[in-house]
Amino acid sequence: MKVHEYQAKSILAEFGVPIPRGKVASNPEEVYRVAQELGGKVIIKAQVHAGGRGKAGGIQLAATAADAEAKAGKMLGSQLRTFQTGGDSIIIRQVLVEEAVDIENELYVSAVIDRSCSRLVIMGSTEGGVEIEEVAAHSPEKIYKEWADPQIGLAAFQARRLAMKLHDDKAIYRQLAVVIRGVYAGFVARDASLVEINPLVVTRDGKVLAVDAKMNFDDSALFRQPTVSGMRDAGEEDPLEEEARAAGLSFVGLDGDIGCVVNGAGLAMATMDMVKHFGGKPANFLDIGGSSSPEKVLTAMRILLSDQKVKSVLFNIFGGITRCDDVARGMVQALAELKKKPPVVVRLTGTNEDEGKRILRDVGLEVGASMEEAVRRAVAMAAGGGR
Ligand code: GDP
Ligand code: MN
Repeated sequence: MKVHEYQAKSILAEFGVPIPRGKVASNPEEVYRVAQELGGKVIIKAQVHAGGRGKAGGIQLAATAADAEAKAGKMLGSQLRTFQTGGDSIIIRQVLVEEAVDIENELYVSAVIDRSCSRLVIMGSTEGGVEIEEVAAHSPEKIYKEWADPQIGLAAFQARRLAMKLHDDKAIYRQLAVVIRGVYAGFVARDASLVEINPLVVTRDGKVLAVDAKMNFDDSALFRQPTVSGMRDAGEEDPLEEEARAAGLSFVGLDGDIGCVVNGAGLAMATMDMVKHFGGKPANFLDIGGSSSPEKVLTAMRILLSDQKVKSVLFNIFGGITRCDDVARGMVQALAELKKKPPVVVRLTGTNEDEGKRILRDVGLEVGASMEEAVRRAVAMAAGGGR
């Protein structure tokens, strides 16, 4: 799960990371009030779940509260497209209004899990403000790393050692060490999967401030992170993934053209592998889970069919707790309700298989004899083989 910059900043601030004074606002009048409180000269920042806002016009400096109000008025409700939005435009619904800071120097600090050694790694670089991928590609030696011991955590000396690589001045690197420890503590306490401060700035008057902040969280831990889950902005998420979540389905959109409806994550993976093996491309990962009701199947179909790329739909159901007849009823109902009807091929086996197959054949649906046959048919149909 992702959160907005202002939310990430509020979390990091709890762990001792200094942030500029500011407030989020959703209309120009509010922006005016906040700007006035902050002394007039402010920076207005579009709150969308994508970086690269600066270059796209989503970050603007205002000289006075009236200027802030006017600029925010243009920004709110408009669309922003950055290199991270994948060609899509996102509507700006909120802006963060912050005191503008005089930047001496832009640094970079982040934390992620290093899967190669199953440890949290904190990274720092003197090349802040720019895209870190560029730094990693062209001058990887400018990125410094410290790995936290899972039992001991990040030791104070590690935070200091990293801080000293980022700045020579003692008064500054001491502040940097506080930030690094805060990033580590916030990451662990809130079950984050990413913390990134880019840029972490040193101001002209010698203060360290997180001018930007990004945090992503581990979805599997949200049940024990009420504050974090309360920060979800449904408007920013993929509407299909949102609908799937609400229906208790686990869905991940992919870029192929064969819609897959499967029960069980393992079978879903195997199905996707087999689709690929026979030359097709899955449009999604979709696990309808155990004990599937007809409603779940209906939702699954609706989600798949709202994806314009889907040319054929493959059902692969292994009935256990899931009853084949339930799935079949859901499919029949779905096909009756949905306007768009792509070719569907089904493989059903297990609990109440015969009943399920009878229901499907009664409405003229194709039922594959084996998983392999069903997958081959779905691939051929997507490729234009038709029925
Ligand atoms: P991003 O482009 O989405 O990553 O947004 P950032 O919050 O990182 O802002 C982009 C750039 O705007 C930063 O690297 C800074 O150079 C600049 N910027 C952001 N806030 C301030 C500020 O308060 N004062 C000044 N002078 N520049 C700022
Ligand atoms: Mn940034």
